[in-house]
Amino acid sequence: MAQSTILSNTANLEKYLKLDQKGAVIAEYVWIDGSNGLRSKCKTLSKKPSSLADLPEWNFDGSSTGQAPGDNSDVYLRPVAFYPDPFRLGDNVLVMCETWMSDGKPNAYNFRHDAAVVMEAHASHEFWFGLEQEYTLLEFDGWPYGWPKNGFPAPQGPYYCGVGTGKVFCRDIVEAHYKACMYSNIQISGTNAEVMPGQWEYQVGPCEGIALGDQLWMSRFLLHRVAEEFGAKVTFAPKPIPGDWNGAGLHTNVSTKETREEGGMKHIEAAMEKLGKRQAEHMAVYGEDNQQRMTGKHETASYEKFTWGIANRGASVRVNRACAEEGKGYFEDRRPASNADPYQITGIIVETMCGKVDGADMTAKVKNAPLVEQEMVVPISKP
Ligand code: ADP
Ligand code: MN
Ligand code: MN
Ligand code: MN
Repeated sequence: MAQSTILSNTANLEKYLKLDQKGAVIAEYVWIDGSNGLRSKCKTLSKKPSSLADLPEWNFDGSSTGQAPGDNSDVYLRPVAFYPDPFRLGDNVLVMCETWMSDGKPNAYNFRHDAAVVMEAHASHEFWFGLEQEYTLLEFDGWPYGWPKNGFPAPQGPYYCGVGTGKVFCRDIVEAHYKACMYSNIQISGTNAEVMPGQWEYQVGPCEGIALGDQLWMSRFLLHRVAEEFGAKVTFAPKPIPGDWNGAGLHTNVSTKETREEGGMKHIEAAMEKLGKRQAEHMAVYGEDNQQRMTGKHETASYEKFTWGIANRGASVRVNRACAEEGKGYFEDRRPASNADPYQITGIIVETMCGKVDGADMTAKVKNAPLVEQEMVVPISKP
């Protein structure tokens, strides 16, 4: 892969990474911002954390991330999970955080809190989730990596699970991210090149309950962080290139204790019945710009109408053939867009299948407004 000339030289960093930290540990606190992106900042700890109790609550300036007004800008970071840091190595950690306001309410973009309440209430069903995260790698100018500068590559066909120069781009980033996830104890279950050149997928799961959201968000952080070292941009836009180019989704595979047991198929059918009645509510939280992707073409279903079928990649939900034959297993909700929040997806699925829980609402688009309207996208200047 051609390296960008503005790339900082990570080889220079190597010798500093080896320096003794004299017993201190670096904790990188990671959170979800007001534009569906990630932010992080780091803190020195005096010893290696062995549980969440060793990670203090912290805060940041929410007016700089679109998460709070300037006159009341403190947003609090509450650690919910931590992982080994694949960049700094040693005892250093990455810390996934929830965001909270000073009045004791979750931040407008903290969807984890309600999802965790719903999942806790229905924990006896032992929900497992496996998400297929699709994404596209872009050059600094915002055009997909490897695409001709003033045009398009040959039509789709040779790229999906492809091998060889001209068919796949940036495999180095994909490999580095895969290993980084493994090092960080993210349950990454696989990866493949996608239908559109420059587009890739990896899967996380199956994870139980809220752990899926925690791990998937951290895997996105790792992807942005790895791609940064290679001078590439990651986009989770569901239809990065209009026209005859596949969009990007976040297929959500779901099972419960009941669907995995003998006779599970009848529980899957009952779930389909319930999902069918809440199509609009699900689509509202399944990602921005998903209408552009859910056209009924390119292996997608209708945005408006719920359908399901065995081995049908054109349905809202696909039940795989093995599951139909064995009469038990899991189903795949193919509707979520690649940029959707996994806490919202998994939370609303549990809510729809098992019932609403007092004090939690997975249909909410934001929690506890007021919000600060702010454009947070890095501007692209075409050369
Ligand atoms: P596809 O055939 O749609 O491309 P993938 O192989 O990419 O499917 O992804 C399948 C996903 O399903 C993986 O993330 C895996 O962890 C998940 N999965 C497997 N078994 C279960 C299960 N019983 N419950 C929930 N998710 C599961
Ligand atoms: Mn897949
Ligand atoms: Mn895919
Ligand atoms: Mn899939």
